[in-house]
Amino acid sequence: MKVIVANKCGFCPGVRNAISTAEKLLEEASDTECVCSLGPVIHNRDEVNRLEQAGLTVVESVEDIQGGSVLIRSHGAAPNQFDKIKARGANIVDATCVLVKRLQEIARQLEDDGLQVIIIGEKNHPEVQAVVGGLKQAIVIAVQEDLARIPDGARLGIVSQTTQSPEQFSAMLGAIAGGNFRELHVINTLCRESRKRQEAAVALCKKVDIMFVLGGLHSANTARLAEMCQKFNRHTYHLQNWTDLDTGLLTGKSSVGVTAGASTPDRIIDEFVRHLESLADQDPDASVPASENSR
Ligand code: SF4
Repeated sequence: MKVIVANKCGFCPGVRNAISTAEKLLEEASDTECVCSLGPVIHNRDEVNRLEQAGLTVVESVEDIQGGSVLIRSHGAAPNQFDKIKARGANIVDATCVLVKRLQEIARQLEDDGLQVIIIGEKNHPEVQAVVGGLKQAIVIAVQEDLARIPDGARLGIVSQTTQSPEQFSAMLGAIAGGNFRELHVINTLCRESRKRQEAAVALCKKVDIMFVLGGLHSANTARLAEMCQKFNRHTYHLQNWTDLDTGLLTGKSSVGVTAGASTPDRIIDEFVRHLESLADQDPDASVPASENSR
């Protein structure tokens, strides 16, 4: 059994920065200081547990903050959340990804220019909620039916959630272009890192018998990777880690592809690959015993 790992997968720079900022904050905090993050730092249960054990508390709402230091994760937070945290006397450590900040600034500029801001993305995703929270009135669209919420004849300033796929972005732009709108100002706010992971995953899933996409079940970018791979390889499975795997799925498979979302730690990927390799070593019929890992 041949094991191939996608040449771009796992932590993106934005998530890596948020994790290392959290670790530094915990290292520097005094024994009595409360260190928390507003929402989980990343959508990965194992990593969140590890940080919790190191002393990081996750708070779901600003009302739960009792001073100390508060980490803003890579998805960012709305301006009113920053204000409320400050009002509670806490020290803010902002680890918002630079690309998310760029999206927030562009959306604000489009609104200041008098355009109706349209965000192509998931309305409940924290990144989108943070952008919407910084605007007077934005419309979030995810499917063609959502276009009915945009007023006819409007002048539109269009951006996208950073982790949307280029296919979804262009499909929605095509749908908007067919509508009755006066002006369309489109700014590409897709994240290149996310795109590189999507391209590598799709290229790999096309050449293996079975594909595993590793990452938190609530991770939007991992779910999107799995969704994209499923289009090209119906034997695609989204798993959190090695313990989720039913090894019976590997029966009769001679090549296995592995990729992971931007919020999946390297050690989850490494552990998964190590276990797969040891299964391959035990398989007397294995035609290609070695793994190919070009990460
Ligand atoms: S996926 Fe891209 S935009 Fe999102 S945190 Fe990572 S680098 Fe930033």
